[in-house]
Amino acid sequence: SRRPAANAIIQPDFKFADMGIGGLDEEFTTIFRRAFASRIFPPGLVEKIGIQHVKGILLHGPPGTGKTLIARQIGKMLNAREPKVINGPEVLNKYVGQSEENIRKLFADAEKEYKETGEESGLHIIIFDELDAVCKQRGSGAGGGTGVGDSVVNQLLSKLDGVDQLNNILLIGMTNRIDMIDDALLRPGRLELHVEISLPDEKGRVQILQIHTAKMRSNNVMDDDVDLDYIAAHTKNFSGAEISGLVKAAASFAFNRHTKKGTMASVSDDVANMKINMADFNNALE
Ligand code: ATP
Repeated sequence: SRRPAANAIIQPDFKFADMGIGGLDEEFTTIFRRAFASRIFPPGLVEKIGIQHVKGILLHGPPGTGKTLIARQIGKMLNAREPKVINGPEVLNKYVGQSEENIRKLFADAEKEYKETGEESGLHIIIFDELDAVCKQRGSGAGGGTGVGDSVVNQLLSKLDGVDQLNNILLIGMTNRIDMIDDALLRPGRLELHVEISLPDEKGRVQILQIHTAKMRSNNVMDDDVDLDYIAAHTKNFSGAEISGLVKAAASFAFNRHTKKGTMASVSDDVANMKINMADFNNALE
């Protein structure tokens, strides 16, 4: 398959609704306008305006709200390569010098390809989860007081500044603690776009419930009495991950109803006919 150039992307038939992310349309629109729009401008326009593509974005907010989902789907939407995913605590290697090496490796493929193909290079996405684990304010002793955290931040900064001429990198950092991230990383030209991914509101929760019950509905294993609006109204402060957990719990209550009595062999026909109903969801809610 032809690799898209760093400037020319977006799957033609892309639809956000099909991506399995609920309640984040506004956040996604912001990311699109601010971080990608310039990449689908007609050739030459970016140079004419005299701007540079955004190289880094930071998604921040509570756990389980869909930050990882969004980061991965961005890659799919942009028809980029499979993103490189790295996780803060993982980078902090106990062997001195290894952490910087880990960071260097992350950028190496993109740098090499850009040198070889220039503007024709495909877009490389790097997803950096739990960024706060390595990128605490320098001098704070992150990384177990060994100064490893400091050198990781320095290495990341030098890489980001070094990609000045590279158009083919997008770094997506994620954290639950934006207050812990070294300010130097958050400046223009680095992780310059900060988007908060917060807990879903009621409308968002309905969308997330629809996504996570899509299979059981289309396969007719969900009872008609299940009221997703009611569930959404009664899951205030639930994250997307918690809503997904609720649906799983409801399914296991239904399974339990069908397997409680008799032997496994005798109930298997019954299980094949099981339907998840509102009582199961109420049990799960409780
Ligand atoms: P963490 O900060 O803990 O890494 P996160 O914000 O990256 O969390 P995800 O890993 O994206 O959260 O979400 C975990 C799971 O919860 C997803 O795989 C998905 O099943 C479900 N989920 C979370 N948010 C949403 C959402 N907005 N729409 C649909 N599903 C969601």
